[in-house]
Amino acid sequence: MVERIRLAPQGPEFSRMICGYWRLMEWGMSPQQLLTFIEQHVELGVTTVDHADIYGGYACEQAFGDALRLKPALRQSLELVSKCGIATTAKPGNPGNPIGHYITDRDHIVQSAEHSLRYLHTDYLDLLLIHRPDPLMDADDVAEAFVALHKSGKVRHFGVSNFTPAQFQLLQSRLPFSLVTNQVEISPIHQPAILDGTLDQCQQLRIKPMAWSCLGGGRLFNDAEFQPLRDELLRVAQEIGAETIEQVVYAWVMRLPSSPLPIIGSGKIERVRSALKAQKLALNRQQWFRIRKAALGYDVP
Ligand code: NAP
Repeated sequence: MVERIRLAPQGPEFSRMICGYWRLMEWGMSPQQLLTFIEQHVELGVTTVDHADIYGGYACEQAFGDALRLKPALRQSLELVSKCGIATTAKPGNPGNPIGHYITDRDHIVQSAEHSLRYLHTDYLDLLLIHRPDPLMDADDVAEAFVALHKSGKVRHFGVSNFTPAQFQLLQSRLPFSLVTNQVEISPIHQPAILDGTLDQCQQLRIKPMAWSCLGGGRLFNDAEFQPLRDELLRVAQEIGAETIEQVVYAWVMRLPSSPLPIIGSGKIERVRSALKAQKLALNRQQWFRIRKAALGYDVP
């Protein structure tokens, strides 16, 4: 079973590991098959799911909602996370945008959250994130949208994704409640957040980051350049009794003192079940740094 973890002092309680639904449309599941998958990961304790308005060309939330419609009571067992703020050029049934852009205007945020509610077949989101920092973001405007969504009960908590500490602070300075997370890319093959102050800010504020693409979106397994990393992960796996190198990667991410919540990107329940075993794996300091070095190709200075 997965542990439960509070995202922030005033934040929601989530499952320690999360299922991400970015790739849902690639899984080719019928609503019934998807319902089975959701029930299976909830049974394992993975109750938190990560979405965004744009996932699957704006189709993922609706597909998820179609599955939930088959068993509406399941909503009570889930924490639903969604995001808004990216406008893509590919929007089915819509003329689309001539150029992809970010959009954090008040009305857009409110409308996007309301669309998410409708598509996901629910009347509230547990958490809404601004998907990416918008150079044209007016923090007062975003704050107005968040406060309106909070007051109406449509969204319970708010956060950001891919924000720098300064961008986080700016938005926080305009809000009457605390942002509860920054969802960022964290993996051995993508380590900037570990050193650029992003995770330090989370630790300082006692909020937990959510970690996306811990396995590099699958590149960890395929790219020739990561062979030295795979070799080291395998050695560490043997030392700590892990069954797979991805279990070691999840343990490496969770070893960070800000306690990131890994988002699992697979639609295969066996991979979800296997990932959860990482909770019981303990990496010592040297093993953690060996993986760091194997990924970066150089030692600590
Ligand atoms: P990931 O876990 O790094 O990558 C998942 C991919 O790795 C899937 O294609 C999966 O294939 C493959 N994979 C997993 N185990 C494998 C194995 N043993 N061998 C070969 N391939 C394997 O995560 P991600 O999908 O990139 O991202 C996870 C979630 O993070 C997303 O669903 C989304 O919710 C979130 N996200 C957020 C942002 C953001 O900007 N906030 C950006 C990207 C993603 P199978 O499907 O075959 O298992």
